[in-house]
Amino acid sequence: MPWVAPAQTQALSLKEAAKLVPRTNFGPVRSLIPGEKASVHDTLDTSDPAIKIILCNDGTWHYSRDCTALADSAVFRNNWNTNVLNPYSSKLEDLPLRITLCLADSASRFCCPRQVKVFSPFGWRRRRNHMGVDLPLPTGTPVYAAFDGRVRVSMYNRGYGNIVIVRHASGLETSYAHLSERKVEPGDYVAAGDVIGLGGSTGRSTGPHLHFETRYEGNAFDPQWLVDFETGTLRHGYFTLKRKYLSPQSKYYPESEDEEEEIYKSEEEERAEAERIAKEMAAAQYHTVKSGDTLGAIAIKYHTSVNAICRLNGITPKTTLRIGRKLRVK
Ligand SMILES: [Zn+2]
Repeated sequence: MPWVAPAQTQALSLKEAAKLVPRTNFGPVRSLIPGEKASVHDTLDTSDPAIKIILCNDGTWHYSRDCTALADSAVFRNNWNTNVLNPYSSKLEDLPLRITLCLADSASRFCCPRQVKVFSPFGWRRRRNHMGVDLPLPTGTPVYAAFDGRVRVSMYNRGYGNIVIVRHASGLETSYAHLSERKVEPGDYVAAGDVIGLGGSTGRSTGPHLHFETRYEGNAFDPQWLVDFETGTLRHGYFTLKRKYLSPQSKYYPESEDEEEEIYKSEEEERAEAERIAKEMAAAQYHTVKSGDTLGAIAIKYHTSVNAICRLNGITPKTTLRIGRKLRVK
């Protein structure tokens, strides 16, 4: 027997309740009564001023976090820039070896931006680093915010096309690129599951797909560490982001293998490995091909060899160099 609100109390619509608690984490509220939509009956305070309890007229209740409280956390507030894709200037080696991110809990949910098998994975590809995963979708398909957060960027970019970047409480940023349409503006608070735009093929794209990135302080890591896109599920509520994941050379592998590896690996060895990767990353040098460039001339310029450049870029000495192409030379 479902609980029904007393007749004299007026149930608030979700919109009205949103005014009481300045938070958009209300819809869609699932009702226990099949075919019914629950409306918010009341909100209760908790000991945490940012967290309220929402009572619905069908007897269900939910935690709700006031997203505007995010502004208190430094990792969320610092480097806030709505005009550039990556506002961070911190060096990889300055980050801790392990960062614990709270992705979702009872007051903040997760929604898979697009549930589908990953078409193109994260990591180093023939021509350049691929900093996210490609998720195929028909143009016009709604794309959802993965977690609660605030829109930092909503713009058009030559490469990414229409791109939306959302910053989350933990400092994590998620990006959604090649959208046919953007539905949010910088400064908007979004809840997991809110439609941030529609899928498309804008920018440098060969067909409709969502290019989805996860970054910490500007450093990209394989989104598959967080999400199993095929089932649309979050792998962890709390996730330990290791510094060694923040590299295009590091791809997701099942955690069990990671644990096994760690049993045999001391903290010292891990630190040494992280430092080696950081050094390698810092030492990486790129050259943009100009008119008249040859591999031989580029090799001489950077004190390297044609073979070494070919190895780094997955090309052969016979490959035609397109003007404007970025080659890794070191
Ligand atoms: Zn992509």
